[in-house]
Parts: sequence; structure tokens; C-alpha cells
Amino acid sequence: MENELGTPSSVAPEQAPGPVAGPVTEAWARIRGRLREEVGEVEYRSWLRQMTLSAIEGEEAVILLPTRFLRDWVRNHYGDRLRSLWGAENLGVRRIDIRVAPEGRPPEPAGTTPQADGLAGAAPVARPLQATLPLAEPLSSPPRGPESRAESRSEARSEARSDWAAPLDPRFTFDSFVVGKPNEFAHACARRVAEKPASPGFNPLFLYGGVGLGKTHLMHAIAWAISFNGQRNVAYMSAEKFMYRFIAALRSQSTMEFKESLRSVDVLMIDDLQFLIGKDNTQEEFFHTFNALVDAGKQIVVSADKSPSDLSGLEDRLRTRLGCGMVADIHATTYELRISILQAKAQGAEVEVPPRVLEFLAHKITSNVRELEGALNRLIAHANLFGRPITLESAQEVLHDILRAHDRRVTIEEIQRKVAEHYNIRLTDMSSARRARNVARPRQVAMYLAKQLTSRSLPEIGRRFGNRDHTTVMHAVSRVAELMQSDSTFAEDVELLRRMLEN
Ligand code: ADP
Ligand code: MG
Repeated sequence: MENELGTPSSVAPEQAPGPVAGPVTEAWARIRGRLREEVGEVEYRSWLRQMTLSAIEGEEAVILLPTRFLRDWVRNHYGDRLRSLWGAENLGVRRIDIRVAPEGRPPEPAGTTPQADGLAGAAPVARPLQATLPLAEPLSSPPRGPESRAESRSEARSEARSDWAAPLDPRFTFDSFVVGKPNEFAHACARRVAEKPASPGFNPLFLYGGVGLGKTHLMHAIAWAISFNGQRNVAYMSAEKFMYRFIAALRSQSTMEFKESLRSVDVLMIDDLQFLIGKDNTQEEFFHTFNALVDAGKQIVVSADKSPSDLSGLEDRLRTRLGCGMVADIHATTYELRISILQAKAQGAEVEVPPRVLEFLAHKITSNVRELEGALNRLIAHANLFGRPITLESAQEVLHDILRAHDRRVTIEEIQRKVAEHYNIRLTDMSSARRARNVARPRQVAMYLAKQLTSRSLPEIGRRFGNRDHTTVMHAVSRVAELMQSDSTFAEDVELLRRMLEN
């Protein structure tokens, strides 16, 4: 199954009552999140990402890796850390056993959908977890405060949640969410719901916006905050998983249990609701659950890629009800927000990312935060791996493919046309041999912008400007940069052109 969060640590496998479920799943997600933070992305990806939790046998957590080499490596380098992280989870785990998964891959548990990264139902369990483990604790914001511990009281509650809700990504909290114009309204609504769930006017909270703009992040942040603040039973899951659970319940004739467990939550969050378009039975079930919960004064949070009124294909009555509370959209990012996000994310990195590189990324990668983050992570990983500092040049090289994909919109011809228009010269002068200052300077500006806004190489750019040599382009680029430093009117001009071209 696709991982709707796009990150290994956030994966939620189907949680049929199987070898590992509920609090253990959450603990495992937290442990992996913590490790990832501690060792960094590169190391995590190289050694730890393929770990799966197979079972808890007695006091022992059994972790699988696909090869003997990986097993030995993880055992030697991370064994102690894994043990102490497990210990800190207070689930009675005191030892860990790191093994090679049979045939290099953990088998899938029968009767569940294929497991996602990081969790396998594999070897037989020595004891049923739910029965013997301490009661599930409420989800708490990482790092966990001491007060969170005493809060779980009701067995029914914890079981209801742990039975099917997905674990939360420890990185997706309000603290790590960068607020800017495009998302401030959605963020304020999310905060409000987190502070006072089910308050009138905010139920349901409907968050919508394009891919990778922070919907899931905000939902997890709400869930963390609510479960940290009180005893509420919060259940988060993707609409897709909702459907799978529903179908599984139908198949095993346990729809009553499914309904009951759904209705026993205090806060229900369904992510990516657009997935339910065309799935009429699941929609119907969701509609009834929705009504039952709202009537009982419980909070609902839903996300989708479009507003309720634009979600055609959703049943009318559901659409109407979804639009009844608070509808908040997350707009596309602005340059300012992208810079702030990059700054926040670069801060924790082991290598220094020069401000110029951050600006470069914010200019170039405008599609969404996920891509932006991905690009930054790649730069950091690369720098770590090769022990080289990050520079503008290395960034261009390392991100070559991403940049090219983003360049498609701005062509050298467009740049030449816009610049010629702006300085009121003929387009043909971009490639002519004329050297008069009033022609040569705009040409240099166009070359500079071509270098900045496209991923064309210097020789390529030179060719497009009347077959000039790459050293001419290089000279133009540095000359314009120099002038921008010393002449602020000129700099504003160039920036204006850049902005026009980028939109
Ligand atoms: P969506 O669910 O809207 O597709 P996500 O919530 O999964 O997007 O966000 C994609 C990535 O971008 C996540 O890693 C998330 O943490 C990050 N992200 C998005 N918006 C912000 C923000 N405002 N501040 C910090 N990180 C963000
Ligand atoms: Mg999402």
C-alpha cells in the first residue's frame, strides 16, 4: 500500500489484531523517528530504514533486516541504542533480537493488507500483545512529558484507538510547522481545534490544498496536541485506510465492531478524503459515522485536495455536511514562506547551508514544500556523504534533475523577450554582435537570468546568444552580480524581471 505520508517513519500498516499493533506500533514509529533524528537522514536511509518490527516475544522485540550484512551492522552500531529506546517506551521490552528476515524480506501477515515500511507481522508471537501489555498510553507530543503518562485510564478507549488508528509522525507537530501568509488561516484553525475540540463553528474542520502543502502535517499536529493536553481518544487515518478497514470488516462480518470502535473516539481525523470519490459504500459508512460523532459532540477533522464544493463525485449530503463547520484552505507557498521553511529545516542539519543556497532553492523549487524539503535533504545528504561543504555550484549539480523539471516553464527565449521588452531593445540584439552599452548591458542581464532561472550550462547559454563563448556568459554573470551589489536601482530592475519570469 502507498504510504500516504511519504515518510518511512510515519507509515501505518493495517492494524488487524496481529502480532504487533496499537501502542507497539506507535512506539516503534516513535523509536524510528527518534533514531532518524539522531543519526541523520543519510545514515538512517543507509542502515536503518529497512528495519521491520516482527514481533514482541516476551520481553524481547524482534527486529528484522533483509540481509545478514545489514543485520550485523545494525546490531553492532545501533543495537544498544535500539534497546534503550525500547526501554524508554515502558512496554516491558528489555531486550532486542535483530535477525535476518526469511528470504531477505519479511513475510506478510495473513489477512492484512501488505505491510508498509517498518512493520511486519512475521514470526509467531509468544503472547498476545494487547492482553499482556500495559494499557496503551495516550499519544503524546514528542518528547513526552511526565504528565502524559497518568492519563490513560480506559481500556476500552485505548483498544478502540490502537485497534485501527494510524501512528503519528513524530516530526509533524505545531512546533515544526512554519507559519506564513499562505497557511496562517489553516494553522490558526488547527490550533483552535487542538485547544478546544468540537467547539461550535469549527466542527468539522475541513482543511484543503494542493499536494505537499502541509495538510497531513497540520492534522498530526492537532492529534499530538490534543492527546498531549487531555484524555481524548484521537484517531487519525487516511481515507484509503478507512476504506480498507471497512471492506475488511464487511468481509469478516465484523462491521458492528468496526462501527463501534469508530464511534468510540473523541476526535476522528480522515486524511485525503478525495480518495472516497466513487467509493459509494464507504462514503455512506463515513457519512453515518460522521453524523453520529458530530451529534455526540465529537470533533471531526478532514483533509482533501479541494474544497467541499469542488469535490464533485462526493455525495451531496456529505458535501453539505463537510462544509458546515470551518473550511480552511492552504494556498501555494510564497517565496517568503519557502525561505522560512528552508531556514527552519536547515537549522537542525549537521552541515551548514549557505543563505545563498537557500535563496536559490526557494526561487527554483516552487511547487510544494515536500519537494523543497526533498531537495534540501538531498543536498545535506550529499554533503555528509562526501564530506564537502554545500555551495551554489554543488547545489546546482546535485539537484540537476529536479531543477531541470522545474525549469521547463522558463525558457531562454522567454528571458530574452522579456528583457528586450523591458529595456526597449530589439529581440535580435540579444544575439547580435553590437556592443553599445545600451544593448550589451541588457544582453548581460538576460544571460545572467538564463543562468539563474534555467539549468542550461554556460556554453549552451552562449550558443543561444549569438554563438558567444562560455567565458562571455561567465563574465556577464559576474558583471551583473557585481552591479547588483553596487547599484540598488539596477538590482531592483533585475529582481523585478526575475519575478516576472518566474510567474
Ligand atoms: P500534504 O498532506 O498537504 O500533501 P504534508 O503535510 O505531507 O503535505 O507536507 C509535506 C512535507 O512538507 C512534510 O514533510 C511537512 O512536514 C512539510 N511541510 C509542509 N508545510 C510545512 C510548513 N508550513 N512548515 C514546515 N514543514 C512543512
Ligand atoms: Mg497528506
